[in-house]
Amino acid sequence: MPCPTAASVLEVDLGAVVANWRALSARHGGPVAGVLKADAYGLGASEVATALHAAGCRHFFVAHLQEALAIRGLLPGAMLAVLNGLWPGDAPAYAETGIVPVLGSLGEVDAYAAQARITGRPLPALLHVDTGMNRLGLPPAELDALAADPSRLDDIDVLFVMTHLAAAEMPDDPQNARQHAAFAAACARLPQAPRSLSNSSGIFLQGFGSDLARPGAALYGVNPTPGQPNPMRPAIRLRARVLQVRDIPAGAGVGYNATWTALRPSRIATVPVGYADGYPRSLSNRAEACFDGAPVPLVGRVSMDLVTFDVTDLPAVQPGAWLDLIGPAMPVDEVARRAGTNAYEILTQLGPRYRRTYLPA
Ligand SMILES: *Cc1c(COP(=O)(O)O)cnc(C)c1O
Repeated sequence: MPCPTAASVLEVDLGAVVANWRALSARHGGPVAGVLKADAYGLGASEVATALHAAGCRHFFVAHLQEALAIRGLLPGAMLAVLNGLWPGDAPAYAETGIVPVLGSLGEVDAYAAQARITGRPLPALLHVDTGMNRLGLPPAELDALAADPSRLDDIDVLFVMTHLAAAEMPDDPQNARQHAAFAAACARLPQAPRSLSNSSGIFLQGFGSDLARPGAALYGVNPTPGQPNPMRPAIRLRARVLQVRDIPAGAGVGYNATWTALRPSRIATVPVGYADGYPRSLSNRAEACFDGAPVPLVGRVSMDLVTFDVTDLPAVQPGAWLDLIGPAMPVDEVARRAGTNAYEILTQLGPRYRRTYLPA
């Protein structure tokens, strides 16, 4: 069968991802992991894993064991850790594959130590302590219990003690200093081990270095320093083709419920991307695409499979013309701001109907 025409193309720049990893490594001044959860924030975990591994990255994180199993073979010699920790029954799979659980409660510590005794050797794991996010990690009472009886870790090879920052993208938030102090205090009460502290934004806080940073978003071009110029390179470009162009008179409404009305005779371009592709409905009447450097306002509602743009002032936009929905001129952070969400959500919703192409690293 002939390959159907690509109506929309998501171009992932693996060279930019690798350049961002190198820049973050230089900035952090120590080892930097790659966080690949949620299919590498929608960019493609296999492709990103392969590119980062070839560049020398040797520490990786995903959220679920099945995400780790899918890419394990691409990452010889690297640590591949599962942030969401140990489900009952999964310990043998970790022991067999060498995938590393991030232990987030005393119950998980004890369960993994029991697995190590069955396996007959110490097993590697990360130990997650909760310093105020109240989501995952040993809460203070469990830390007390472990500090009182550190022999519970005897059968576990603690590769890193880690915690997660709740507000690192806001440098003035006092929670950063509180978590930093709580993490130092927790580590001092546990057996000596390397430490892992910062996510993308934490790398840009003063004094938040550690033995392993864990960036995700910044690798993929999201600005880790909101309100300041983006130090990262954009890693994706989302382009879509105009399907039809029509002329409408002044006073005509566009799209569901006619939420936009033409004030003058207008030309409307219809593009085959919608909220089913992860282009949020909240962008209705709020987004802008880009044509040849010129802004193109989105008018009317974003529908499931279609979206409409006002191209009255751009006579060169004809059926088949390409509009940039996300790209260097319309950064993912700006799309997110207009949609009332963050760039993480925009990236992780990028839909399966885009034809994906990869620029090599
Ligand atoms: C998702 C996640 C990260 C990466 O966060 P970014 O803000 O994308 O850099 C790091 N650590 C943990 C525990 C996470 O859940």
